[in-house]
Amino acid sequence: MRSRLFLLAMLPLACSSPGASSSSGSGGEGGSSSTTGPGTGGAGMGGGGGMGGMTSSTGVGPGSGSGGSLPMLPCDAGFAFDSNPITSPILTVSYTNQTPYAYVNMKVTGPGAPASQWGGVGGSGPYTWTYTVYGYDPGVLTFTFVEGENGGNPGNPVAQCQIEALVEGSTNPGSSGSGGGGQASCADLAQANGWPGGTFTCDDGTHNWCAGTGTPTSDCVRCCSPSCGVLAQLYNSSASCDDGNNGACKGSGVLTWDCKAGCCGPGIPNSQPPTGGAFGYPVGDKSTSPAGGAGWQVWQVLGHYWDVYGGAHLAEDIGKAGAANAAVSSVADGVVLVSAPNGSSYVNVILIQHPMPDGTSVCSFYGHLATRTVSPGQTVKRGDQIGTVLDQGSNSHLHYFIAPKSLCDKIAGLNGGGACGYDGSGGVPGLGHADLANAPESYTASGTNNGCSLNGYQILAPHDFIDAHHF
Ligand SMILES: [Zn+2]
Repeated sequence: MRSRLFLLAMLPLACSSPGASSSSGSGGEGGSSSTTGPGTGGAGMGGGGGMGGMTSSTGVGPGSGSGGSLPMLPCDAGFAFDSNPITSPILTVSYTNQTPYAYVNMKVTGPGAPASQWGGVGGSGPYTWTYTVYGYDPGVLTFTFVEGENGGNPGNPVAQCQIEALVEGSTNPGSSGSGGGGQASCADLAQANGWPGGTFTCDDGTHNWCAGTGTPTSDCVRCCSPSCGVLAQLYNSSASCDDGNNGACKGSGVLTWDCKAGCCGPGIPNSQPPTGGAFGYPVGDKSTSPAGGAGWQVWQVLGHYWDVYGGAHLAEDIGKAGAANAAVSSVADGVVLVSAPNGSSYVNVILIQHPMPDGTSVCSFYGHLATRTVSPGQTVKRGDQIGTVLDQGSNSHLHYFIAPKSLCDKIAGLNGGGACGYDGSGGVPGLGHADLANAPESYTASGTNNGCSLNGYQILAPHDFIDAHHF
């Protein structure tokens, strides 16, 4: 009984550190810094091992308790860990207290872990344990410093700290107590961290492959996440680093040791393929404005009124001598919505939808095709060949335009139909056949032409759009 009273009297000390006293609503213990008398802390804590006010002690901020490394998770002052968050199953944990206890131990609980108890320390603090924690899963581990738990006496929890474990605990039980078990293997670390494919890179500590940021493990001097190049191989993909600013994968790529903002590429988990902002021309060198270079020219601009057809042109025509059967490529990454024969002089048409960085999408339409080499639903990359230019002799050309989503939906709903070549209007006044300088960037169709109407629909001039979103 004397021992019990002694311990109760000491309790306020354990909880009266600056960190604890800064907590809110801590059941009365926080305000007491007295070294004498049970105070309110003693009353709250003495009820036979209940956590009492202690568990309501929340969050000493970073910088208190252990030299700045402690935690954003709730933690009473006095705890120190050799790593925070935990990156190795071998931990050194200490709890600092000015008051000698007759018998103290540390309890550890966490995901996947049976309650484990490190104990049997007496005398003056600080108390330090170096132990291997077995069997826990990545997640939050809770360390509880308990005094007086002995011989069936449940003891009193004195202080508590939560810390995040990033690794899986050792699966080797080894010997009980301190030592044994070893560090997590690199394979365990890869699994615990969800590294794609369970792959990893060993750093030998001299090549500095991981720029010194790897985690020491039992089988690697340092164990690192896979590099972006390894990921690319793993997923048979082309990979690129997102710098976190260009929106290439919107920051959602897989973090690797050499791509801190994310490794992105088609098929790589958690990454989005580069979208939008990367348009090129459908023919020629696919890059040179206004029609892809290599002799390709804009033969008829958007909005040009041609009396032969009784309306304004609702696309751009691009051609050159020898254009017949030339390859036609997708102007950007996207999904094929339509690839179909067409009863008009288009003969074959293709409609491809392209996602844009802002979440919207546009479509590209291609007409006067001799062949089609893609299918609806197929994903294409910018520059992938989708067909060839129809042979119309010296008039061989590609008729193409960029469609806002509303127009795209209309054409897709008609399986490529409805893409009138001309409207029923007078077009842009004074605009010449190939007058690029004065051609509009967009044009809204008006009227009906040969029974075809896109009245009210906006069409975007492809060369302007591509230039504005050029790769
Ligand atoms: Zn045309």
